[in-house]
Formats: sequence, structure tokens, C-alpha cells
Amino acid sequence: MERLIDKFGREIYYLRISVTDRCNYRCIYCMPKDGINWKPMNEILSFEEITDFVKVAASLGIRKIKLTGGEPLVRKGVQDLIAMLKSIDGIEEVSLTTNGSLLKRFGRQLKASGLDRVTVSIDTLKRDKFRVITRLGNLDDVIAGVETLNELGFKKSKINTVVMKGINDDEIVDLVDFAKRVGFDIRFIELMPTDLVNDWKAHFISIEEMRKKIEEKYVLEPSDKRTNGPAVYFRLDNVYVGFITPLSHAFCSVCNRIRLTSDGFILPCLGHPDRVDVKGVLRINDLEKVKELIRYSVKIKPKEHSLLCESIHSSMASVGG
Ligand code: SAM
Ligand code: SF4
Repeated sequence: MERLIDKFGREIYYLRISVTDRCNYRCIYCMPKDGINWKPMNEILSFEEITDFVKVAASLGIRKIKLTGGEPLVRKGVQDLIAMLKSIDGIEEVSLTTNGSLLKRFGRQLKASGLDRVTVSIDTLKRDKFRVITRLGNLDDVIAGVETLNELGFKKSKINTVVMKGINDDEIVDLVDFAKRVGFDIRFIELMPTDLVNDWKAHFISIEEMRKKIEEKYVLEPSDKRTNGPAVYFRLDNVYVGFITPLSHAFCSVCNRIRLTSDGFILPCLGHPDRVDVKGVLRINDLEKVKELIRYSVKIKPKEHSLLCESIHSSMASVGG
């Protein structure tokens, strides 16, 4: 089978698919308070179009899929898409990143669809602060979602926390304790600059500072655990604690992914403006051309992101963070 190897020798086998740019939250670092200009539904790829894309991608060596957004669970019937993707030859894993608010409602259907893993974003365990960060969210819904995942027997669930100095950096240890209690691995993510993040530098906190806070209470044992992503992991009792550091330690040398946006563009790199329009050829069912465009996207994948020089010029929700 063909493999996708870029010109820097990196094998690309992981595809993040944004299934919608819509969201029921407006996280301060991701979306403006009034939302973004949602793409009209006729510009959003249908489940059949996404499935066709993944069939071609799988024939080129894509093995792992992550559904993201926006909030993937606000797209009606996303469990049907998961089942369609799970049945594609060569696809070994389909996972989902969610704000967790709708997991209690849809958890059972997601389990039945064959979804392999779920990552839940939680930045704070304080109800008031949760409301401030997400603008529209209710922490209790998300905690209920976490419990639902455990009740349904989802394995290897994770928590993602974006750490912001002066906002939630005082809760790093509490979040680790929460992760240990529910048995989820937890990853702390450096805040990335987008046009929406005011005064990004003032809220930026590096991995060294995050680790120091945890090591005031716990011993973090180095680990060679690797997942599909760029996190560096440490063992802590029953869970792993990971750090995703796009800014302070560029992780580009181990990048294994490309992205598909909800409106049909391939993004070779999250932190680079290049995008390749694949919607037109999907809509005329020219799957040979889709293949060519995937190969081309890997060919132009840059060596590294340019986030320290420029911010991401759109909401993370529209590019599928
Ligand atoms: N709505 C889902 C969620 O919140 O998990 C999936 C989409 S969201 C865009 C995916 C991830 O991107 C979340 O973990 C979110 O915290 C992260 N994210 C969004 N904007 C970010 C930023 N400026 N810096 C770092 N991470 C960001
Ligand atoms: Fe929505 Fe996720 Fe962005 Fe928050 S981070 S606004 S939940 S897409």
C-alpha cells in the first residue's frame, strides 16, 4: 500500500476532520462572543463526501481519524458518519474531540457507532470560571459527560486543558487530581495565538512552569508513551500527564497529520496559511483528482509552523483545532 511521506521524511497517517464550524460554546481563545460567520450548509461537506475523501486517504496510508470542529456533536447524526468511517478498509481508529456538553445525550449512540476514543476539553473545575471561559457552557454538563464515558466503558479517554496564565494556571494540580479520580489521561496545551486571543503573550505559560506546579505535589515519571499526537507524557499513578507545546518546543519534526476543514479544504499545517480546495473534485466524484490533491498537500507540507511570526487568521473552530 502507498504511504504518504513528505519531503522531510515524515509519514502522514493521521487525519483530523472538522465536521462543522458551529459550536454551542464561545471559548474566549477560540471564538468571538457572537460566534463566527457560520458557513452555509451547502458549503459543508456531506457525510458521503467526507467518507469518499477518507476512502481515498486510507488507500494512501491514512490510518487514524480524529473528528473535531467546532463542536462535532452539534452536527446532526455524527454517529452515522463515525459508523461509515469505521467500515473503511485501512482505518484503524476513529476518535473524537469534544467540549463534552452533549456526551450524556449522545454517548450511547457514539458507543454503538464504534467510536474508539474521546477527548474532552476542560479548562477549569470552577463553575463561574467555566462560564467565563466558554461564555455559554455549564460545567455540570461536561462532568456528566465524563461520567457517561466511564459508564459506557470508553477506554483511553483524555482531557485537554488549554492553560492560560492568570486565568486557570492556578488549577493545574486540581485538574490532575480530577483526571486521576476519573481515570483519564490529561494533556496541558500551550495557548496558541489566533486573531481572537488578545494579549496572547501575557497569558502564555510554558511547559516548564506547568511542570513545576505539578511537581510541587507529585513526582512525574518520564515515559516513552506516544499517541497519535505531539504530546510528551509522564506517568503519574493511574494516568499519564502530557504536555502539548506547539510554541515553546516546536513539535513539527514529529508531525504526522493533515486536516480536512468542514468546507472541504485540506490544511497541510495548522500554523500555515496554505490550503488545498478539494470540495469541487469531491462533488464531481473525481476520486483520482482527490488522490492527487492529497499527495500534493503532503508534498507542500511545510517543515514547521509559523505561529511565532504570525497568528492563525481564523477561529480554531473553522480550521479544526
Ligand atoms: N469543540 C471541541 C473541543 O473544544 O474540544 C473540538 C474543537 S476545539 C477547536 C479543539 C481543541 O482546540 C480544544 O481542546 C480547544 O481547547 C483547542 N483550542 C482552541 N483554540 C485554541 C487556542 N487558541 N490555543 C490552544 N488550543 C486551542
Ligand atoms: Fe467550541 Fe471547542 Fe472552540 Fe470552545 S474550543 S468554542 S468548545 S470549538
